[in-house]
Amino acid sequence: MNSTIASILLMVAILGASAVITHLFARVMYLTCPRCQTLNARRRAQCRNCGWELCRALSANNTK
Ligand SMILES: [Zn+2]
Repeated sequence: MNSTIASILLMVAILGASAVITHLFARVMYLTCPRCQTLNARRRAQCRNCGWELCRALSANNTK
């Protein structure tokens, strides 16, 4: 019984850790458009969906 609980906890911990890692990876690699919430690759100057200038949005975030 204890080993079952332990294996369930381990599975939840692994799933949670991978979710956090995925989230951090997305934060590092992508920019979220402030206008339409589309994820854009960090190298992009403009949003691929609405054309919003992401460089401007990034500098606005840095001054905050
Ligand atoms: Zn956009």
